[in-house]
Amino acid sequence: MTEQNLNFIDEVRRRRTFAIISHPDAGKTTLTEKFLLYGGAIRSAGSVKSRRSQKHAVSDWMEIEKQRGISVTSSVLQFEYNNFCINILDTPGHQDFSEDTYRTLMAADSAVMVIDSAKGVEDQTKKLFQVCKMRGIPIFTFINKMDRTGREPFELLEDIENVLGIRSCPMNWPIGSGKDFKGVYNRHKEQIEVFDDGNHGQSIADAIKGDLTDEKFNDLLGPGLHEQLMGDIELLDIAGDNFDLDKILKGELTPVFFGSALTNFGVEPFLESFLDITMPPTPRISNLGEIDPESDNFSGFIFKIQANMDPAHRDRIAFLRICSGKFEKGMAVNHVQRNKKVKLAQPQQFVAQDRVMVTSAYPGDIIGIHDPGIFNIGDTLSAKQSKLKYKGIPQFAPEHFATISTKNSLKRKQFLKGITQIAQEGAIQVYKRPNIGIEEVIVGVVGVLQFEVLEYRLKNEYGVDITMQRLPYRYIRWVEMDNFNAARFSMTMDTMLVENKDEEPVLLFQNEWSIRQIIERNEGLSLRETSLVE
Ligand code: GDP
Repeated sequence: MTEQNLNFIDEVRRRRTFAIISHPDAGKTTLTEKFLLYGGAIRSAGSVKSRRSQKHAVSDWMEIEKQRGISVTSSVLQFEYNNFCINILDTPGHQDFSEDTYRTLMAADSAVMVIDSAKGVEDQTKKLFQVCKMRGIPIFTFINKMDRTGREPFELLEDIENVLGIRSCPMNWPIGSGKDFKGVYNRHKEQIEVFDDGNHGQSIADAIKGDLTDEKFNDLLGPGLHEQLMGDIELLDIAGDNFDLDKILKGELTPVFFGSALTNFGVEPFLESFLDITMPPTPRISNLGEIDPESDNFSGFIFKIQANMDPAHRDRIAFLRICSGKFEKGMAVNHVQRNKKVKLAQPQQFVAQDRVMVTSAYPGDIIGIHDPGIFNIGDTLSAKQSKLKYKGIPQFAPEHFATISTKNSLKRKQFLKGITQIAQEGAIQVYKRPNIGIEEVIVGVVGVLQFEVLEYRLKNEYGVDITMQRLPYRYIRWVEMDNFNAARFSMTMDTMLVENKDEEPVLLFQNEWSIRQIIERNEGLSLRETSLVE
């Protein structure tokens, strides 16, 4: 093996690519920032732009524009820690929760789930968890805000198991909570780690470490906490799920860590243990079988397309997850879906908080490439194998629907062009009612803010004013049925039948009752919650 080969393989094996999922305000931004702090990518906490300042009134257009810009740099971060090269994928929350949030999970190899200790499992976490589960990727749980009075640790574990349906295995255990939160017991190393919050989490927290029975902890913790800890550990050892690497890697068991991102308590033990357990990029499924990341053909797929902030430039950035081989600047590769060679121009990477030009990148890395409007979500790029296609990225179920039409029918063409391009970026899904002209479409979105972004962009980038009427539907299902015949299909009054762009039938429902009714009434019907884009 040549030296170059060895280096390539070392580079692949030190990559870890994960997404952070949570409900807004659980502490995702704070935890990410602390990772950067421990990795040495930032010198003091507080330097990453607070997400708070990005929250905005829904109708504030300048803010939306700003947010679209910010989310490019904050959605992918790369940093180094202990010789690992780590890629973090942020999953947008708040009002900018959208299909992109789900799609980002397709590019990750594992997920970190942040839970607020006072709130337990919340709605958005649940939705994102389902996608991780569908992919069968390992999910690591960080129970945050232990420095605040929250729910009991055992109760939180129960919540994870009951609400998410995944078994859990605590990797560490909190020592005290709220004002009395002192640190964690590391079950793997069998040691107590008591933290010192010298400067309120701005810099790395020092820890005093030692054996569970070490007498110094009697004084440090006080006898009450020390005894309680010993009791808890005993109970866990008897009643808890055992650590099982195989189950963790299949996403059947989640290792749980307690900590406080704000004060840095438990952040480093989490990072260390997480990196220890997670795997380098694993093979990805394609039409040619599993593709080994260490094979020398450069390949990857596009999972996100970001429109340019500047309306004068219609170009976009496509986010590519590298799956195999080495990327080198200026490379010409096959764009498989279009059967064309493309030169990957202006490749960018997102290191810590900055965008930089990439000269080389490896499997597990995410690069942003200039897109003159040719890429679609799910497209494969491959240097040598021009027939290689990675498994498509599903369309996830929108939860909000509206009828949209152009106010001026002379602008039909621009209207359609705008809708088609914005749909191509994956911000909206477009449906049609059978036998209705092209000047009216039904749009579905995952996050309601997308409606406003759509209206704004159609006006500003395509010069089209629209009329929008919100529809009462909340659920979408893709129809699977041999010999589907709309005329003979039995519906309920409050359900709508629409078509996707390939004229395939899709149903919109207002409630779950109707979904059940329609399944009962139509023999041989099955309904899917996601749709695979090929
Ligand atoms: P995100 O919406 O999940 O990204 O949450 P942020 O990281 O922005 O945190 C939301 C709020 O919770 C902020 O005010 C943080 O300062 C606070 N926060 C985050 N982590 C902790 C923690 O460990 N303890 C406490 N007390 N507050 C925290």
